[in-house]
Amino acid sequence: MKQRGILVVVSGFAGAGKGTLMKNLVGKYDGYALSVSATSRKPRPGEENGVSYFFKTREEFEAMISADELVEHAEYVGNYYGTPKKFVDEQLDKGNDVILEIEIQGAMQIKKKFPEALLMFVMPPSAEILKARLVGRGTETAEVIDKRMKRAVEESEGIENYDFIVINDDIDECTEKMHNMIQSSKYTPDRQKAFITMVREGLKNL
Ligand code: 5GP
Repeated sequence: MKQRGILVVVSGFAGAGKGTLMKNLVGKYDGYALSVSATSRKPRPGEENGVSYFFKTREEFEAMISADELVEHAEYVGNYYGTPKKFVDEQLDKGNDVILEIEIQGAMQIKKKFPEALLMFVMPPSAEILKARLVGRGTETAEVIDKRMKRAVEESEGIENYDFIVINDDIDECTEKMHNMIQSSKYTPDRQKAFITMVREGLKNL
């Protein structure tokens, strides 16, 4: 029997390489589905509606909140971000593990609503490398980079609320490690309650 999938929350500072890591994971291994978020942020060059994000106006986003269409949502650096419910439910039912690449406030909402969700935090090997990656991206103004570095300091305070940290040095090694962490995490007793009960009851009845 194929078990229902689990929710895998992936957070990390902007520039820590989450996006590339997630694409690598989903491309390399079966059984993962990457959730596409809704946001009120403007698209960056090369970003496609429905692929990178579902781009919405603030009003459209607020309507989604009112209609209870989001699993979680948060405001980050002046814009709304949220996870559409429908896709998540469909994929979990199919037995796929659903990856939510979201920031820390959303991650904490997920942890509260779904205690069995797995929370991972992607970190750069050092603070200097993070700054260099953000600047090297070339898509943000100095002001936004500064805001994001400040935000990273704040977010670093919340890392202990996560189940695993993932240090992104070598992308392929890191992808494999992440896959192993996710698959191993499924066998903790709190994520296997139904199975344990079934065997326990079976033992009593023999
Ligand atoms: P960016 O604007 O760089 O694409 O994303 C900014 C931040 O928003 C990142 O930390 C990203 O993980 C987070 N984010 C993206 N989608 C969601 C979402 O659906 N919910 C929440 N809470 N955060 C999100």
